[in-house]
Amino acid sequence: MEKRQLRIALAGNPNSGKTTIFNNLTGTRQKVGNWPGVTVEKKEGDIHQFGYDMKIIDLPGTYSLTPFSIEEIVARDFILDENPDVVIDIIDASNLERNLYLANQLRELDCKVIFALNMADVAKSRGFRIDAAKLSELLGVPVVFTVGNKNEGLDDLLKAAIALAESPLEIPEERKVRYSNDIESAILELRNFIKPRVDLSFPYNLRWTAVKLLEDDKIIKDRIREKIGAESRNILIKAEELRGKLSGRFDDDPEIVMTDERYGFIAGIIKEVLSISTRQRVDISRNIDLVLTNRFLGFPIFIFFIWAMFQVTFSLGAYPMEWIDAGVGYASVFFEYVLPDSLLKDLIVDGIIAGVGSIIIFLPNILLLFFCIALFEDTGYMARAAFLMDRIMHLIGLHGKSFIPMLMGFGCNVPAIIATRSLESRKDRILTILITPFMSCSAKLPVYIALAGTFFAAHAGTVIFIIYLFGILVAIITGRLFRTALLRGEDAPFVMELPPYRVPMMKNLLIHMWDRSKMFLKKMGGIILAGSIVIWVLSSFPQNIQYSKDYDAQIAQVNQAYEKKISSGESIDEAWRRLKKEALIKEIASAKEAERAEKSYIGRIGKVIEPFFQPIGIDWRGSVALLTGFVAKEIVISTMGVLYAAEGDSEGDSESDALRNALLKSGMTPLSALSMMIFVLLYVPCLATIGAITRETGSMKWTLFHIAFTTGVAWGMSFIVFQGGRLLGF
Ligand code: GDP
Ligand code: MG
Repeated sequence: MEKRQLRIALAGNPNSGKTTIFNNLTGTRQKVGNWPGVTVEKKEGDIHQFGYDMKIIDLPGTYSLTPFSIEEIVARDFILDENPDVVIDIIDASNLERNLYLANQLRELDCKVIFALNMADVAKSRGFRIDAAKLSELLGVPVVFTVGNKNEGLDDLLKAAIALAESPLEIPEERKVRYSNDIESAILELRNFIKPRVDLSFPYNLRWTAVKLLEDDKIIKDRIREKIGAESRNILIKAEELRGKLSGRFDDDPEIVMTDERYGFIAGIIKEVLSISTRQRVDISRNIDLVLTNRFLGFPIFIFFIWAMFQVTFSLGAYPMEWIDAGVGYASVFFEYVLPDSLLKDLIVDGIIAGVGSIIIFLPNILLLFFCIALFEDTGYMARAAFLMDRIMHLIGLHGKSFIPMLMGFGCNVPAIIATRSLESRKDRILTILITPFMSCSAKLPVYIALAGTFFAAHAGTVIFIIYLFGILVAIITGRLFRTALLRGEDAPFVMELPPYRVPMMKNLLIHMWDRSKMFLKKMGGIILAGSIVIWVLSSFPQNIQYSKDYDAQIAQVNQAYEKKISSGESIDEAWRRLKKEALIKEIASAKEAERAEKSYIGRIGKVIEPFFQPIGIDWRGSVALLTGFVAKEIVISTMGVLYAAEGDSEGDSESDALRNALLKSGMTPLSALSMMIFVLLYVPCLATIGAITRETGSMKWTLFHIAFTTGVAWGMSFIVFQGGRLLGF
């Protein structure tokens, strides 16, 4: 049996991948020549596959079959005159709309056409989803996805082409481009006019011929004359008459109207079969924005998110915090046992472990905080927050864009201050730099957690949230002040970009979180370790202290007094007395330790600065802690850790329990704790931030001003809160 012969033509827009597919299909079996009479390259190749001999012809690339260019004429003539068994239209799927114009013209030609949706990979990567089944159904054309340069889908394409070649030609009438009624009736009228005037040898589809005549296609007119002879005159006159009627009706040439309508048809198809996930994202984003940036809802939702962030940070962080805490406790106990009593042991246990340990337990909280900030950034919510804050920021004569550095300030002020570079006006920059440190950075979080956790147990999360809000408020108020007094000027108009919302990738979130948390850990090994050691030295020396009382004698006395009362009995009374004795001794030891600490170097420093802090309810220990916080805010809590751990009754307690107990015993009240938190919130930022401010403002003057100003505001606010609270009876 002889093999069936098929001729398959590849049509398509330039650069749709025709030649690539042609090469992949035919390999080396190619013949290159010219199309007859013109200098357009013609490529042919023979292949033998699936039991068929196939001749593949690479047609010139064209955007349409309206014969304007030589390529279009060559391509159309080939299809019209050579009648290939199948035309494969190679469609650039990443450019579907433009490519469908040619595709539709091929369909109108009434040849057997099949669509190869090539560049499927590009389309996919751009977020285009094409419903091939629907496209196939709507147009009555088989559709195959291909990736030409990877040889994907080409076998399927050939098989589909063979199947189509073997099936009867039939594109249902209703699947064709429908023109508007006037044109359709003109087509019908002309078609009916032509039909009795041609015989069966007429090679072209009648509807298509009518369409081309209405479009005044010169080449088709010539063919009619050529093929029909005498009657052709009447046909052309009839066509001209109908064209005139249509032109009058549309006030435009029919070919232009018909082109428009083809594009309309294609637009309809596109709507049905193409979904662009980016466009979808934009739409979804718009819907989300209707709520999240809503005039009334937006702000409460924003506040809620920030509140939720601190709740998560605080409550979720509590669990890993306990584990680390226990670990630090074990380390402390371990060294307590294995090391002989010595200064070195004190340094390690009371200095390093107590100091660094008291901060490292906050690592989970800080990780969580940075995770939440990364979440805001990566989802696109950060830009909305800035957008929402825009109106409020305008109160201080800044725009919402300034709020992004401020929000970043929640993490760390150093990158936040660098981020002000995105602001155009220098005055805006300086103003933003001056108020950003009021945004409470993550290093201050441990202080809040320790103080709020101790004094506001159940409401700690809410209290911390209020502290943060208070920071924002102070930033706004002082910003307004600066704007009117120091940095007068207009805010520049700008466009706030609102990127589409995205589902964040966990990997990216973790990377962002980790990048920022790394700094925390680095500080741990560096400045905080050094700070802890310095503070321990200052609090442990001088060693030979003149005590006001002879504590050791007192302890001996107690021991003696109880010696007689406690015999060897095991009664309840005995046990009770023993407990009482221990409590007494502990009390005396604590008093001794307190006096020792007060007489240490750090105690003396504390005593000097205490008067400054007394009006805001902070004792000498707190004063020292705040003083050391100038280096880095984490040191505030490690100083407290060192100072209180030295009180000596914390053995066996975990780090945070020890601090909590010591704080409760230190005479601090919820009110003074609040005052201290506010002071920490507002007072002079850490050294690194001061450095950043100097660099970014390029002025020592602004830096010094900032140091004095923040400390003044902090003291003033704490004073108002503390003294006001006392007046109110707290
Ligand atoms: P023609 O003008 O239609 O003949 O297009 P070509 O065959 O010359 O292809 C144009 C470019 O598209 C070439 O660089 C091909 O490697 C590339 N190309 C072809 N098909 C694909 C495809 O499916 N995916 C991708 N990514 N590139 C393709
Ligand atoms: Mg080519």
